[in-house]
Amino acid sequence: MPTRQSDDIKLSALENAMRQFDEAAEVLNVDKMMLEILKQPRRAVIVKLPILMDNGDFQVFTGYRVQHNIARGPAKGGIRFHQDVNLDEVSALAAWMTWKCAVVGIPFGGGKGGIACDPSKLSKSELERLTRRYTADLTDVIGPEIDVPAPDVNTDSQTMAWIMDTFSMHARHTVTSVVTGKPIELGGSLGRREATGRGVLFAVREACQYKNIELKGARCVVQGFGNVGSVTADLLYRDGARIIAVCDVHGGLYNPEGIDIFGLLEYVAKNRKVVGFEGAQPITHDEILKLECEVLVPAALENVITSKNADDIKAVIVAEGANGPTTTNADKILQSRGIMVIPDILCNSGGVTVSYFEWVQDRMGYFWTEEEVNKRLEIILVKAFNDVLKVSLEYNCNMRIAAFLLAIKRVLEVTMLRGVYA
Ligand code: GLU
Repeated sequence: MPTRQSDDIKLSALENAMRQFDEAAEVLNVDKMMLEILKQPRRAVIVKLPILMDNGDFQVFTGYRVQHNIARGPAKGGIRFHQDVNLDEVSALAAWMTWKCAVVGIPFGGGKGGIACDPSKLSKSELERLTRRYTADLTDVIGPEIDVPAPDVNTDSQTMAWIMDTFSMHARHTVTSVVTGKPIELGGSLGRREATGRGVLFAVREACQYKNIELKGARCVVQGFGNVGSVTADLLYRDGARIIAVCDVHGGLYNPEGIDIFGLLEYVAKNRKVVGFEGAQPITHDEILKLECEVLVPAALENVITSKNADDIKAVIVAEGANGPTTTNADKILQSRGIMVIPDILCNSGGVTVSYFEWVQDRMGYFWTEEEVNKRLEIILVKAFNDVLKVSLEYNCNMRIAAFLLAIKRVLEVTMLRGVYA
């Protein structure tokens, strides 16, 4: 019987990540000490950042960078700017990056960073000073062979350009491969901006095939309309899916006949929110998750599907565009109800996969066409999906536990080969 206790509603992302790890680790017959090594982040840095505000005052912000594991290569993972950023959350996100890179088999470990701030309240020049000061304080901690940041919630290619420039100024030469997700002109990769959403599309296609669902005409709900949600909605729509509902932080839209996504994207480019777009009715954040649909894509923040609402989810497939949207208790409920969850560490791995391509291209100084990037991404994603599916059938477990099993095994293998420098 699934656990129905509702302690997961208050669960921190880190507690959730640890529970996921423990559940998978239980299945593996591995030395307990080894598992402890894999579980803990290897390094966590906290920086205090005094920033000169536009009004002449100083304000001190707190920044974080956590490197969870580097057994398979440099730490890799995004940087988020959000008022709720804290060490717990960044540590969970760093751990998920370790498992994500291992699931797709790219040669990176896991890292994550963030600054506790509300970027909507900062001017562009304040954001630039904050980003540069954060980077300057982390120059010894990041680098192409050490730890390679990328965009995440509320950061973009401009943020990456400032990081690249600040790091390069300190190094006294241009180091493009210190970050990924850069503007194309500065060594960014074609296809990187769309990569997470494109990866979600590839995963959804595979899941639909497995579940015998025709994606053309399938009802899809997308929660979150930032970089991941908007691109996912666009690509699903181009594949013929019917996007019946979307939402962002301000509110949601619902139209059972399907929303005109091209029109909505134009509207959002002008108005910076989905609310107010004609041709759909309003819907609340709670209601949107409970709509009957074939594919539900949570593409915002952590802990949105919990034991409180998991019984009301009426999707056939939940495709996790966000990191950590489902708690372990909710996972069990969804599993008992026969709902297939494509876990975040598989489903949203397209972003870091193309980040890997960007890092490779920067280091080669030779750039690929967009078709080449997308093709290579598809090959990796389709293989990863089927690898995870195979493990889930073999161990008779859900896709999340299967993805963790695969990832933990891969990191463990490398750790054993390297040996522990005790
Ligand atoms: N922030 C993205 C993620 O959570 C991308 C990380 C990267 O490209 O390094 O996967």
